[in-house]
Parts: sequence; C-alpha cells; structure tokens
Amino acid sequence: MANKKQDDKNSKIEIKLGEFYTIVRKNTGFHKTEVLEKRLNTLTHRLEYYVHYENLDRRLDEWIDAEKLEQEIRDSNASSSNNQQEESMVTRNKKRKYDEINHVSQSISDMDPATAALEKEHEAITKVKYIDRIQLGRFEIDCWYYSPYPDQFGKTPKLYICAFCLKYMRNKKTYLSHRKLCSRTHPPGYEIYRKVDLSIFEIDGAHDKVYCQCLCLVAKLFLDHKTLYFDVNPFYFYVLTKSTPDGPEIIGYYSKEKDSVDGNNLACILTFPPYQRQGYGKLLISFSYELSKREGQVGSPEKPLSDLGRLSYRSYWTYVLLENLKEFRGQITIADLSENTCISRDDIIWTLRSLNLVKYWKGDHVICVSPKLLEDFVKSPNFKKPRMLCDQSCIKYLPHDRRGDIVRRLK
Ligand SMILES: [Zn+2]
Repeated sequence: MANKKQDDKNSKIEIKLGEFYTIVRKNTGFHKTEVLEKRLNTLTHRLEYYVHYENLDRRLDEWIDAEKLEQEIRDSNASSSNNQQEESMVTRNKKRKYDEINHVSQSISDMDPATAALEKEHEAITKVKYIDRIQLGRFEIDCWYYSPYPDQFGKTPKLYICAFCLKYMRNKKTYLSHRKLCSRTHPPGYEIYRKVDLSIFEIDGAHDKVYCQCLCLVAKLFLDHKTLYFDVNPFYFYVLTKSTPDGPEIIGYYSKEKDSVDGNNLACILTFPPYQRQGYGKLLISFSYELSKREGQVGSPEKPLSDLGRLSYRSYWTYVLLENLKEFRGQITIADLSENTCISRDDIIWTLRSLNLVKYWKGDHVICVSPKLLEDFVKSPNFKKPRMLCDQSCIKYLPHDRRGDIVRRLK
C-alpha cells in the first residue's frame, strides 16, 4: 500500500485540453473540471491551465499552475480509489462569488434553438479569461470574465489601469510613469450629483469616446453578457466616484441609451468588486429613476439582467413599491404606482407577483393587499431599506431635450 501511494505521488499526469478531470482540494472536496486552455504565464514563467468547474458560473473559471493541477488530479485519483468521492463543494473564500448566483443561469438545453446558438457562440468567443487580475488605482482585483482588450493587452495575466483616465498598461513601470503624467483628476463630462464625498458624472459616449470605451472594457471583466465595447456613441455613461486625497476614485457606473425604443433607462450597471455590498448599486439604480422622473418617463433596465443586477433591482423595487403601498394604504392601482415611481408596469407586476400581492382578475392585474399584510411584509427579511438612496436635492440635471445652452451654466 505504501508503495502504491508513493507511485501515485510521483506519477506524471498528461493533461489534455478539452478533457474533464476530477480534482480534489483541501477543505472543499471534489470538482469535475474541464481543461480549456494552457499558457506560459509571462509574469511567473510557469505553465498554467485554464479550467472550468462543471455546473458553476464561469466567473469561477481560473488559471491554475500546472504542477498544482496535476497534484489535485492525483489526490482525487487516490481518494476515489478509497471510495470517498463526494459531491463537489464550494470554498469559503470564494463564497461571495457563489452567493450571488443563487439562480444559476438558464442551461443551454432549456433555451429555444436560436438563443441556444447565440449563447454557444458567446461562450466560444469568451471562453478563456486571460486577464486574471487588474490593478485599478490602489486596488488589486481578481477578474471574473473575459474582456476584448486589444492585441497583447488582452493576453496578459495582469493589467494596470489608471483609475482616473482608465488607460490600460501591461507593466508596472509604464503605469507608474503614466500616473506622474496623467492630467485627468476626475471623470470627463458634467458632475450632475454631489453629496458629501460622492459624485456622479454624466459622460456623453460621442464626446468622450476613448474614456467610455476604456470604461466598457474594464467593466466587461466583471460582466458576463455585456456586448457593448466600442460603439459608445449612442450612450450616456453615469460614473459614480468617491473623494480620496488623490482625487475622486471610480466606484461604479451605469450606461443609458440616448434614445431607447424599449423605454430603457439603464443598459449596463456595475459596482467594482472592492465597493460591492456597500449599497452603491442601489444608489445608482435610484439615481436612474430620479432622472426618469425629471424626464417625465417611465423607465426599465435593459433585459436580461445579470444575476447581480437582478438581485439589486428586485430588492430596490420591493422597497420602493411597498413604501408606496404603505403610504396609500393599499388604495392604489398599478398605473398609479408606475406614475409615482417611474417603475414600468411589467416590473411592478413581476415584483408584486413574486411577493404574492397581485391577482389576475377579469383580464387585468389587481393589487390585493391589506394593511395587516403590508405590515407583515415590512417586517419580513424580503424588505430591506437600501443603505443609500439618491438624494433628490443633490441632483443638478435637466433632461437633454430641455438643455440647449443651459448645460454650461449647470457646470
Ligand atoms: Zn491616467
């Protein structure tokens, strides 16, 4: 037996691309793993394999040192021969990434053929994320997805990104000298919101094209299904920043189509990982509805929402709608709710239905809620007051069709 173990420990494993291997990790158990790609890491000069864990979101895909992967396969072989194989488990330190994907994306087999074909094509193009990490200002951040950075920038394990102009660089030296020269101290465009140390800048994609393209590229590292990178002209970008001694640091952003035929008031939204779970997403969402109110238009986020986006919206809609229902003691229609909040009728019905507060009656959706039921909901864990909502009195915004020359005075 001792000899057998010795053999296992030293045996060479030939890892092939496209093959599945079961690996075992300390504390986390077994993972069925597909090997998708290999590379020589230009920073460490070591061979690495890119792996996908079956049934888990692709944001967990990663590059693993070849020796480490071989060892994990050997460990798994040794354990499975003792019949100890268990279901794969999740690691503690990665729990964050899993928590947010409670509703696992629809599997390809459940889709209609056209959607499935598009999804497969998307997966093929974006299969491997070469950029593992970025340095964004003072933060080093693990990346979640592939992003189409051009040429060699897209193949490097680590990118350095200036947190003010979003220019990307492959090595630290270039980055440090750029920081000395970079003249940008805040995002371009107009500052249209400021409260204490938080600001939101409105940037026209047609006017500050390079900045907006760089923003889309860095955002794609954390969004799976974003398709916009280079044609930024038809969009406005709303960038949220927080003051630091060095200048306003980027926290997140959302984009909005200038003329949305679907009535969307938001296209893509992202809070960068170091700032997630601190309420900034909902601040941006509430800001997007405040702009809709000023435009006198009902708005809705572009669908499909990402998994993280859906969680934020569901929680925001639930809060706003229940607050409204409470105020009007239930004597209110879906149309009234939509007018008060600028949330679209479909989004209202979806939210109220998930709370079981709406019934389909005589061909229409009717809100059915008693004061007692509302009280219960407000006490339930479904109802969470957002940590931060946009403060209407801090917005300096005029709808674009009413701007003309006034915009200069706003600045
Ligand atoms: Zn810069």
